[in-house]
Amino acid sequence: MAKQVNCPCGETVRGESDDELVSNVEAHVQDKHPEMVGTMSREQILGMAEEAA
Ligand SMILES: [Zn+2]
Repeated sequence: MAKQVNCPCGETVRGESDDELVSNVEAHVQDKHPEMVGTMSREQILGMAEEAA
């Protein structure tokens, strides 16, 4: 099931699976929010996720 995270910066990061979502969010954080790298665990990322429409 596809999921998405609505980043506070306004970007929506999607993934087709939990693993893909987590890696996409981590890539987004590294690219756009380098100061937050390492601050979000897999559990926190999945906790922010919602089902993609
Ligand atoms: Zn962002």
